[in-house]
Amino acid sequence: MSLIVQKYGGTSMGDPQRIKVVAERLLQTQRQGNSVVGVVSAMSGVTDSLLRLAKEVSSKPLERELDMLLATGEQTTSALTAMAIEALGGRAISMTGAQAGIVTNTFYTKAKINRIFPQQILSFLHEGFIVIVAGFQGETSEGEITTLGRGGSDLTAIALASALQAHECQIFTDVDGVFTCDPRLVPQAKKIDLLAYEEMLEMASSGSKVMQSRAVEFAKKFNVPFEVGHSFKTIPGTRVQEESPGMEQVVVRGISVERNQAKVTITNVPDHPGYAASIFSAIAEAHLIIDVIVQDVSAYGTTNISFTLSNEELDKMGDLLEQIVQSIGAGEVRKESGIAKLSVVGIGMRTHSGVAAKLFECLAQGGINIQMISTSEIKIAVIIDEKNIQQAAELTHQAFGLDQ
Ligand code: ASP
Ligand code: MG
Repeated sequence: MSLIVQKYGGTSMGDPQRIKVVAERLLQTQRQGNSVVGVVSAMSGVTDSLLRLAKEVSSKPLERELDMLLATGEQTTSALTAMAIEALGGRAISMTGAQAGIVTNTFYTKAKINRIFPQQILSFLHEGFIVIVAGFQGETSEGEITTLGRGGSDLTAIALASALQAHECQIFTDVDGVFTCDPRLVPQAKKIDLLAYEEMLEMASSGSKVMQSRAVEFAKKFNVPFEVGHSFKTIPGTRVQEESPGMEQVVVRGISVERNQAKVTITNVPDHPGYAASIFSAIAEAHLIIDVIVQDVSAYGTTNISFTLSNEELDKMGDLLEQIVQSIGAGEVRKESGIAKLSVVGIGMRTHSGVAAKLFECLAQGGINIQMISTSEIKIAVIIDEKNIQQAAELTHQAFGLDQ
């Protein structure tokens, strides 16, 4: 008998009708001769509206109380799913993260899983129950409720699959899988059948938000293969697993796009140790999340430093940098929104040359100017004007043969 973990996202939990369909799928999976653990998200929009409620009663709600509040979203859907299975004639039991044995540290709202004690789940499975675990939550060793960061139900599913040594971990969502590019941008985009963890990680962190990045990191670290697919379809989704030799033959596996980005440049930064440190320490202290950083080669003892961040983060930044620039005697701060990032991703890049040349040529053909470039072993990313992003995505998708 196989043990299968199935995770259902917020849209699949969106209304009672959908919950019933999910219940049916869980039951069917069990009737095919499997032990089944379901991990559920809150109904779509619920976590956001709970956060809004919190903001209405307090401008700075305590994080402990936020976790008490947010955990109710998943508690609701886990109970409803269990009820729906019972109503269909199956046997099911819902569990909170705590009851499922998920023990975390005390970092409220973004807790890390320390250990999982799955005995309780295993004994219910043994008795023939379908176990429905509320995603996104755990408890500290002192019994305090914690949550695992936005999108954290993915992490619950991957971590449980690992702890239970499940044969299958299926992440069900509202798309058919991971695509070679966002189909809204490039209609020729195709579903990818097989991805390496690292590729998924790069895609997830550079715009293809199918899954929580932390969950993919966990899967990579503990080697938990999984499949991403559609909750209400039986067609195969995208399999994500450890890389195998054959996977390197495909040079570029996919293109991801991140819009709504902004670029900040600080000019004439004195070219001495410690200046970049003071700029980025201030940014870190303000908890701003930044992305690509580029420093020019210095000339006449000064240099320019640029970085990108989302428009949202730029708004939060206020005039933080203007103050720093003044205190360190740099030039000026230039801010520019309306940019986007396009990344080509593939583990095959490690063993093939010419990917950068092909990408840049492709953009040149479209008359698209590259503002910044950043690379990793398996990714090349360019920062371009947002108005060019669709054309850039289409040209690149075609040039790397992704529509074939
Ligand atoms: N409900 C949580 C969120 O919206 C967790 C999840 O859906 O995975 O972030
Ligand atoms: Mg989600």
